[in-house]
Amino acid sequence: MTDAAIYEDLQKTLKSPVFLAEPMSKHTSWRIGGPADLFVAPRDEEDLRRALIFARARGLPVTLVGNGSNLLVSDYGIRGMVIKIGPGLSEVQVQGALIKAGAGTPLPRLADRAMRAGLAGFEFLAGIPGTVGGALVMNAGANGCAVGERVRQVTAYDYAGNRLIFNAGELVFKYRKSSLADRKVIVTGVVLEGVPGRVEEIKKRMENYLARRRKTQPLEFPNAGSVFKNPPGDSAGRLIEAAGCKEMRVGNIQVSPRHANFFVNLGGGVARDVLKLIERVQHLVEEKCGVKLVLEVQMLGEF
Ligand SMILES: Cc1cc2nc3c(=O)[nH]c(=O)nc-3n(C[C@H](O)[C@H](O)[C@H](O)COP(=O)(O)OP(=O)(O)OC[C@H]3O[C@@H](n4cnc5c(N)ncnc54)[C@H](O)[C@@H]3O)c2cc1C
Repeated sequence: MTDAAIYEDLQKTLKSPVFLAEPMSKHTSWRIGGPADLFVAPRDEEDLRRALIFARARGLPVTLVGNGSNLLVSDYGIRGMVIKIGPGLSEVQVQGALIKAGAGTPLPRLADRAMRAGLAGFEFLAGIPGTVGGALVMNAGANGCAVGERVRQVTAYDYAGNRLIFNAGELVFKYRKSSLADRKVIVTGVVLEGVPGRVEEIKKRMENYLARRRKTQPLEFPNAGSVFKNPPGDSAGRLIEAAGCKEMRVGNIQVSPRHANFFVNLGGGVARDVLKLIERVQHLVEEKCGVKLVLEVQMLGEF
């Protein structure tokens, strides 16, 4: 069966629009990535379930993305079906100190909602351009906080289309990783717990964090945040700078002069150049500082 025929069948199965050969560069903050054979952004959980069952029946590999803010997608794209968990699953409800949020909720919107409800503990999310689902899988964090600390319950699907519920005690969150990634599930929602606080104070903390980001991060260029994880007790940015890699460039990808752990796309950059720059920086940091940097960004597709 051709991709076009599968596409037509899938479109008949779902309410949500399906895209054929969708450029992933439209869905990554680096603005990099070749075509996804089939691309679906489910409007609700039922469409997600149907897409999963369809993919399984046809033997199509499934790849999950959120807002693409931590992704390096190959120039050759992604084979099979890409499912984007986004606006279709982005309802937010506040009940006392609990926030129930869909996995597609943008983190800045979650932080804003919490602040307006007088709930502290989410300020650090205001400047992280991912979704709740991506943040849970990556255990996104900043300023000494991480999202895993606030989790009470997670709703997810397995790849066969079964709905699962995990209570906080069943999950493990570590530095930029969580057991949700190991379990290979698709997160659809979460219940988080905040700490009652004063709106003005919460707002002030959020504004301070955002101001610091604007000053220290090259937000005027497409990027994917920190490329490498910080090694224990050190910072990847400091090591990259110490190894003399600041401003190093491959094609149109550059180690940012402002923040060495951010690699910026100066315009028209490609994944193979990001990868070359990653390897070059890793090699020099290991040679000069004796530390093997580990990738924080997730690579998707064929490299
Ligand atoms: C300017 C900038 C600043 C950043 N600052 C920070 C920071 O301070 N701290 C930090 O931790 N990160 C930061 N990041 C990185 C990134 O925003 C976070 O890792 C974010 O949580 C990723 O969410 P996402 O929705 O974009 O996920 P994606 O990048 O789309 O995906 C990341 C991973 O999660 C998986 N995934 C996504 N959604 C789901 C889902 N619903 N179910 C299952 N798996 C899923 C994907 O398959 C992939 O493996 C920054 C990025 C940028 C561009």
